[in-house]
Amino acid sequence: MIIHSNFLKPGPNKKMEFFQHHYLSFDKNGVIDYFGSEYDKIPNSENKSKKVMTEFIIMPGLIDLHSHITQFPAIGIGKGGLLEWLDNYIFPLEKKFEQTEYAYYLSELFFNEAIKYGTTTIVTYSNSSFEGTDAAFEIAKDNGLRVFIGNSLMDWNLNDNFGKSTSENLSITNKLISKWHKFNDQINYILTPRYALVSSFELMQKVSEIATKEDLFIQTHLAENLSEIKKIKDCYPNFDSYTQVYEKSGVLTDKTLLAHCIQLSDEEIKIIEKNNSSIVHCPSSNNYLRSGFFNIFDKRKSNIRKSLGSDVAAGTSLSMLNEAKEAINTNKTINILQHGSVEELGADEVLWMITKGSAEILHLQDKIGDFMVGMLADFIAINTDKIPMYDLELTPENLCSRLVYSISNRYVDLTYSRGIRLH
Ligand SMILES: [Zn+2]
Repeated sequence: MIIHSNFLKPGPNKKMEFFQHHYLSFDKNGVIDYFGSEYDKIPNSENKSKKVMTEFIIMPGLIDLHSHITQFPAIGIGKGGLLEWLDNYIFPLEKKFEQTEYAYYLSELFFNEAIKYGTTTIVTYSNSSFEGTDAAFEIAKDNGLRVFIGNSLMDWNLNDNFGKSTSENLSITNKLISKWHKFNDQINYILTPRYALVSSFELMQKVSEIATKEDLFIQTHLAENLSEIKKIKDCYPNFDSYTQVYEKSGVLTDKTLLAHCIQLSDEEIKIIEKNNSSIVHCPSSNNYLRSGFFNIFDKRKSNIRKSLGSDVAAGTSLSMLNEAKEAINTNKTINILQHGSVEELGADEVLWMITKGSAEILHLQDKIGDFMVGMLADFIAINTDKIPMYDLELTPENLCSRLVYSISNRYVDLTYSRGIRLH
């Protein structure tokens, strides 16, 4: 297919660039074979269908690096900080996700909602059960999204209703890996020790061994909330910090995604940098649970890869454009509190993060997040009627800003993955 349209795409300076009247061409496998302005240079153009979409803006599909399928019905529900919220609202919902029919139903709703908001790759937590997680994979295998799904590994500090033994957690993990990891190019298993208060040190050591043996990604939460950190000190009295618990157990690798990371000491930031792990900023969730403000421009974190996650259901929607807006708002709040001493975050920078930046974190920068030849045609389209610019200058920054502020609570018009329309 050849698409004639206007494109926002990642540039070399970690910002988005804008190209009017360009062509995106891809073959029947969804592999891009041309992006540029010269129609004559498109390979095999005579055998491809052509679509004129000049009333749209097209950009790479969005990537959500942190979410929880099980929590989807709890968006906007519940009060209190993280630990009370999990106990009172979330763990009961996760129990319900053990029922296969319910897990199918909820997974379908969840993935479809993500697609409508323009997400083409999503990293997500299931509950701790084989049945619920298996159902989530079953739905994902047919819906065209690229997914990383993991069963939440929990063997500690929970009553029997919610926790499982270490060996049971590992046996479920091994079954899911052999059934689903690399089931096809879109389906990935991710090891998911939930966080160090409910995942024992022994369990995390085993996770580290499996990650090395199977070359898997790992996801967990880190330093989200002050009460959580206080409890970590009680549970791990022989460690200097929360981050050190993860490092010593072996779960910090260059394929580890650490959600939140709000409350970190200098020493902990150095540990993350040394292990080349990534940070996932979840701004709407941090606000909802009053966890704190993550400063994306904290100079101490400048050498660490960072991007965004929706963290539904503490996050308030599956819209990554909304998280982009919330990341900008958090940056503005910090600026207010610190009297303008922090660098201003541009919409063109945040959109780079949730496309190319996240692709780099997932080691998929050669496949997704941009429109280079050889990459996959994952993209979204937004009708410019929704963002009338009138006589404003069409700079990438203006366009990105209009997108972030005007589309964040709306579905995008079209979502394509590997050249196939999903929405
Ligand atoms: Zn989370």
